[in-house]
Amino acid sequence: MTTTKKTASKKPGDAPAKKTPQPLSSVRGMRDILPADQPYWRMAFEAAQKICDAYSFDRIETPVLEETSLFVRGVGKQTDIVEKEMYSFETSGGDKVTMRPENTAAICRSYIQHGMLNQPQPVKLWYWSSMFRHERPQSGRYREFWQFGAEMLGDEDAVVDAQLALVSWKYLQSLGIDSVVRINSIGTPESRLNYRNALVAYFRPKRSRMSDEDKKRLLKNPLRLLDSKDPLIAEMKMEAPQIVDWLDEPSKNHFMQVLEYLDEVGVPYQLDPFLVRGLDYYTRTVFELFETNDDQSQNQNALGGGGRYDGLMELLGGKETPAAGFSMGIDRVVSLLKSREDITPPSEQTEVFVAQLGESGRKRALALFEELRAAGIKASESFSKSSIKTQMDNANRLGAKWTLIIGQKEVLDGTVIIRDMDAGTQEIIDAQKMIQELKKKMIQKSAEAAN
Ligand code: AMP
Repeated sequence: MTTTKKTASKKPGDAPAKKTPQPLSSVRGMRDILPADQPYWRMAFEAAQKICDAYSFDRIETPVLEETSLFVRGVGKQTDIVEKEMYSFETSGGDKVTMRPENTAAICRSYIQHGMLNQPQPVKLWYWSSMFRHERPQSGRYREFWQFGAEMLGDEDAVVDAQLALVSWKYLQSLGIDSVVRINSIGTPESRLNYRNALVAYFRPKRSRMSDEDKKRLLKNPLRLLDSKDPLIAEMKMEAPQIVDWLDEPSKNHFMQVLEYLDEVGVPYQLDPFLVRGLDYYTRTVFELFETNDDQSQNQNALGGGGRYDGLMELLGGKETPAAGFSMGIDRVVSLLKSREDITPPSEQTEVFVAQLGESGRKRALALFEELRAAGIKASESFSKSSIKTQMDNANRLGAKWTLIIGQKEVLDGTVIIRDMDAGTQEIIDAQKMIQELKKKMIQKSAEAAN
């Protein structure tokens, strides 16, 4: 039997009922960086730009998408990043691509592709880019996050490693963040192999007490056990062999030199025998930066990290080229800046607000606004509003020090009213002398503020 559903009062010829679309949110683990946070982001960016200029790094930006094989070869098949965190897909043209999970491999690709080996070495590059990792989102961990990084390519000297640790530490210092560098050396791949065997021999008898995840690590990448978050492993590793005891002589000397240079420039560091970092390409020096005030627990978030990667260029098809670098996690740096009451980003405050009355006033105001901009005066307006009250409210909200008011009378007289917003006083000036007058008032006000 068929039943006929009654469709309310729908008549033939009526338009189909409209479904209200659900509002959309950003993708899990990714977020908007809203205007309210931008002063902090700008502060972090300008500090990066300043320090990189001071140490003669040149800016580079590489594409978001790279061939997947770049990261598989560079970062390493057995790493968490390549095993489970990459945003990889096949394009309609059949290319296998990945949204960069980190930038060092891409910079090495660019160094090789553009023959930078022929430039004076080391080539010093810096970037400010977003990275993508499909990790479990949590505090300080996003799926899209920003890194500021610097690389020194084509030099194996220990002074390069020390300079990179210095620049990353100074960067935080310049933002008012005291930090400490935790540092270790993981030697060459050959010395690491011996250490790896010693580590497996140590952990294997304890296998039955390990989680499945850690058992897998023991089998595939035992060094990764050293930064396991499991408290049981943290306890086990206290007695584990330490890599320093397995280092080859040249790596040991290299490491001692790095530490001597750090002593020389006063960078505070702590030796961390179990610091190995999650990317396979590291050789010799590895380091991470932590806020000094932070409790020294295992689970705290590193603000940045870096190290040497002498074998990476060759893995990517280039000539043997020693290199080192660091990257800072900007999301974490910004969140720290925001949490600190003693840190305020420099404000971009409006100096002058331009208010208008009537159509002729509005036209004149448009032109005056351009004059202010050309003179480098930070001005704001609400040209689409005609109510003078609304405009004055906006001027107050923006913290303007002066408001210029132009109505029909001022247009006819060739004048402008200047209102001092703090004093509440007004005067009429010749429109031709507006910039001159404003600059005079600005100097006066800053002299008063200084006294
Ligand atoms: P890495 O590229 O893993 O050596 O990370 C360098 C720095 O980037 C870390 O010390 C963090 O500050 C930051 N970072 C890494 N992964 C994330 C993430 N998922 N979300 C936010 N920041 C991250």
